[in-house]
Amino acid sequence: MTLPRLKPGTRLCIATHNAGKLAEFRELFAPFGLELVSAGELSLPEPEETGTTFAENARTKAHAAAKGANMLALSDDSGICVDALNGEPGVYTADWAGVPRDFGRAMKRVEDALQAIGANSPSQRRASFNATLCLAHPDGRDVLYVGRCDGTLVWPPRGDIGHGYDPMFMPDGYDQTFGEMTRETKNNWSPGQQGLSHRARAFAKFIEEQIEHG
Ligand code: IMP
Repeated sequence: MTLPRLKPGTRLCIATHNAGKLAEFRELFAPFGLELVSAGELSLPEPEETGTTFAENARTKAHAAAKGANMLALSDDSGICVDALNGEPGVYTADWAGVPRDFGRAMKRVEDALQAIGANSPSQRRASFNATLCLAHPDGRDVLYVGRCDGTLVWPPRGDIGHGYDPMFMPDGYDQTFGEMTRETKNNWSPGQQGLSHRARAFAKFIEEQIEHG
């Protein structure tokens, strides 16, 4: 789908109320000079995420923000899929944290489920973080980008730099969890690179197509 290319000064709504995601997007967008504002900062209501896929929820959030703010909006629907739990919590990753959100409790719930099936060795504790980004125009056009990062779940959680489930996820090829990494290392992205985190990898594809180059 063709959408207006983004260039320095373009206003873009980041369709999130999640401070952790917003901070990561601000860092990723730093080289491009866009004017970013978040759905939270605009006090837009948070739409209900009733979809059963990351794509459905990403589209719901992006279209709600694009219409509410009357500007281009970029959403992220993401979650962690644990192989030994048949992909759970998946699209319900945020819900596992309960209300109000408590990610210590959410991580414990994952760990309890792994312990219940005796998943103690790294090969039994494989997981992936997944992100689907949706760029939506107020007129209803949209485009999707997906990114995935594979790794292993550790226990106890390590590090307090990140957000959500970061402290129990160790990406392949690293001996630090996302919770022990700076945002820079977790993204590990610069223009032309593939990125490390699921969000950075989806973002790399988005930038490739949607930013006006030269
Ligand atoms: P949603 O996309 O708003 O449905 O929420 C996704 C949930 O997945 C977040 O609330 C986090 O708990 C978790 N999540 C997504 N991306 C990350 C990440 O990069 N690190 C840690 N947790 C994440």
